[in-house]
Amino acid sequence: MKILFFGTKSYDKTYLLPCLEEEKYSGIDVKFIEAELTPNTAALAKGYDAVCAFVNMDVGTQTVEILNECGVKLILMRCAGYNNVDLETAKKYGIRVAHVPGYSPESVAEHAMALALTANRHLHKAYIKVRENNYSLNGLLGVSFYGRTAGIVGTGRIGAAMARICQGFGMKVIAYDMYPNKNLDFVEYVKLEELFERSDLISLHCPLTPETHHMINIDTIGQMKDGVILVNTSRGGLIKTDDLVRGIRENKFFAVGLDVYEEENGSVYEDLSEEIMPHSTVARLLSFPNVVVTSHQGFFTEEAMQAISETTMENALCFAKGEKGPNELI
Ligand code: NAD
Repeated sequence: MKILFFGTKSYDKTYLLPCLEEEKYSGIDVKFIEAELTPNTAALAKGYDAVCAFVNMDVGTQTVEILNECGVKLILMRCAGYNNVDLETAKKYGIRVAHVPGYSPESVAEHAMALALTANRHLHKAYIKVRENNYSLNGLLGVSFYGRTAGIVGTGRIGAAMARICQGFGMKVIAYDMYPNKNLDFVEYVKLEELFERSDLISLHCPLTPETHHMINIDTIGQMKDGVILVNTSRGGLIKTDDLVRGIRENKFFAVGLDVYEEENGSVYEDLSEEIMPHSTVARLLSFPNVVVTSHQGFFTEEAMQAISETTMENALCFAKGEKGPNELI
């Protein structure tokens, strides 16, 4: 079996190479390339049985069609989310798609709380100020989370981990999910509108689907408390950025923490420090003192990278053995 790994960074290899040395993977031939998987690069997969892609790549209709022409039979997503994959077209061509669910939900939830704390206590500004010998506290006032209400949208693996973290902070935890998580007996499930109305901290953990696209918009922002803190570590498309910017300008938010945002593709995971940005979303968001933005790094811990590598190769091995793996999506 031959697999072409697209968009490989040095840290991917750090975790994948030791995995590949295991005897059970001896029949699998892997090639790493730096190019991202897009319609322009998909043809590089000619002669490979499988491709491996990541969260920021374009695995839409055109890409899947080219992969099919190249004879690819398996798309391995080395991530949990798969909203960037055209599953219908893959199914039409009999291309199987596997992902890595729940590799380290705590890693993402911990990053969500890190963003909430950083934006709330202005750590991003405090760090710069102290480096400049400026020890004044002006502009650094935060709020305590203790006793406040956290609203978790989506209580799957990551949302549940975030709910437990918020409980540990002494917060009242409320949540919205169509399928309440029975393991979270300390959580009060409410309707989405009520969650927006009552929460002091809102953290998004549902997947991006046609239903959840732009779930945070000018109407739902209007339902939120003044001074709410909003965190998104799920997918950028959950938030309509223009409406968020308007809400920030109208002082609706005490703080905003974003690990994901619309238009992130093309920027995340790249060093563009010498370039003029082709779009303005991030620049606009970064112009606000109470907004903290990171580069889709919620997953990026040793534990998660190890688990992603192992599960990706296990998914490949199932295919090589002619079995249907537990992480296949169609
Ligand atoms: P999961 O499948 O375990 O949980 C998702 C939950 O969302 C489920 O309980 C589901 O019922 C719920 N849900 C679905 N539609 C909903 C809706 N309309 N409203 C409310 N809840 C809804 O997924 P997970 O592992 O917890 O991951 C959640 C998301 O986090 C992924 O879809 C992915 O987009 C994102 N993610 C981000 C990173 C990162 O690095 N920032 C890493 C991994 C995953």
